[in-house]
Amino acid sequence: MALIVQKFGGTSVASTDRIKNVAKRVARWKAQGHDIIVVPSAMSGETNRLIALAKDISASPDPRELDVIASTGEQVTIGLLAMAMHEEGLKAKSYTGPQVRVLTDSTFTKARILQIDDERIRKDLAEGYVVVVAGFQGADEDGNITTLGRGGSDTSAVALAAALRADECQIYTDVDGVYTTDPRVVPEARKLDTITFEEMLEMASLGSKVLQIRSVEFAGKYKVKLRVLSSFQDEGEGTLITVEEDKKMEQPIISGIAFNRDEAKLTLLGVPDLPGIAYKILGPIAETNIDVDMIIQNVSHDGATDFSFTVNRGDYGKAEAMLKEIGTNLKARGVVGDNKICKVSAVGVGMRSHPGVASKMFSALGAEGINIQMISTSEIKISVVIEEKYLELAVRVLHKAFGLEKAE
Ligand code: ASP
Ligand code: MG
Repeated sequence: MALIVQKFGGTSVASTDRIKNVAKRVARWKAQGHDIIVVPSAMSGETNRLIALAKDISASPDPRELDVIASTGEQVTIGLLAMAMHEEGLKAKSYTGPQVRVLTDSTFTKARILQIDDERIRKDLAEGYVVVVAGFQGADEDGNITTLGRGGSDTSAVALAAALRADECQIYTDVDGVYTTDPRVVPEARKLDTITFEEMLEMASLGSKVLQIRSVEFAGKYKVKLRVLSSFQDEGEGTLITVEEDKKMEQPIISGIAFNRDEAKLTLLGVPDLPGIAYKILGPIAETNIDVDMIIQNVSHDGATDFSFTVNRGDYGKAEAMLKEIGTNLKARGVVGDNKICKVSAVGVGMRSHPGVASKMFSALGAEGINIQMISTSEIKISVVIEEKYLELAVRVLHKAFGLEKAE
């Protein structure tokens, strides 16, 4: 008998029929003698609808009130789920985040979980209840309702699993696991049986939106056994996210090809190459909360250099305007930018012990005539910036070059 936390995403609870299916699935686990905590999201589209209502009233809604509104989506699904479980003959009880007492800080709309009170849940489990806890929400010290940021119910589930020392945290979603790359781009993409936390973090931060990044960090930190599974298929083991040591010896060098379309590049030309310059350029940008990703500074000629960096495409206009002003102040030669770029990355812990991954990647792209504009590397990842129109081609070529296709 195990204690299992099961998180169901918005599409898994999108209708009352699907909610009934979730209840049936939970009943099967319960029948095997397990203790179950269920953490649902809001019905799909509901959180967007609630936020749109708020924005109808106010262009910049008060964050505290926004959380009061946005948190209600999950309150509906926990009640419906508990009722559906009653119909299955199960004992079930629902709680909102504040009722459990999921204690968070007071950063409305992106609060962090500080502590979870497990007393009520343990008591209910001991009495044979399935405990249904609303994802995405908590309350701060003063009892104000908070939410954890979009996709936050993944983090709720992992945090509950950590707090209750659950044997496994299962994330049920509309895909049946984590893939070597997006199957819509490469039909031959393969489901991974296991992936390490580190790889998953890179894949998630690079746009493979299976899990909220924070939930993966949390699971890694507290060693929560995390598994991604399909809520629409009954079979399959999904993908287990592991600590590296657990992986088998015949580990592939590259586990996946991740990509991010929504990138833009800016270059400040002919800026004086002096101490403090990088800070003068990027300091003001960081202060406006624009995320800067890759940064390249060239060798200088005659005391001047070119300085390039990438930002999310949505921040391009703002960053460009700021950079023009910074450039004028620093007496730079000008600003050029490109918002039709993308980033493609090869990710794999196996790269640590295998040199030559970068050259393999560059030769594969070169053979297709794809020009690499920027490169960045970490211990387990190599990323390149290329023209956006080559994204699909690059992902396909790299997927093949690293032998990630389905085994025949
Ligand atoms: N319902 C919330 C959202 O849409 C939380 C979640 O689904 O994880 O962001
Ligand atoms: Mg989600």
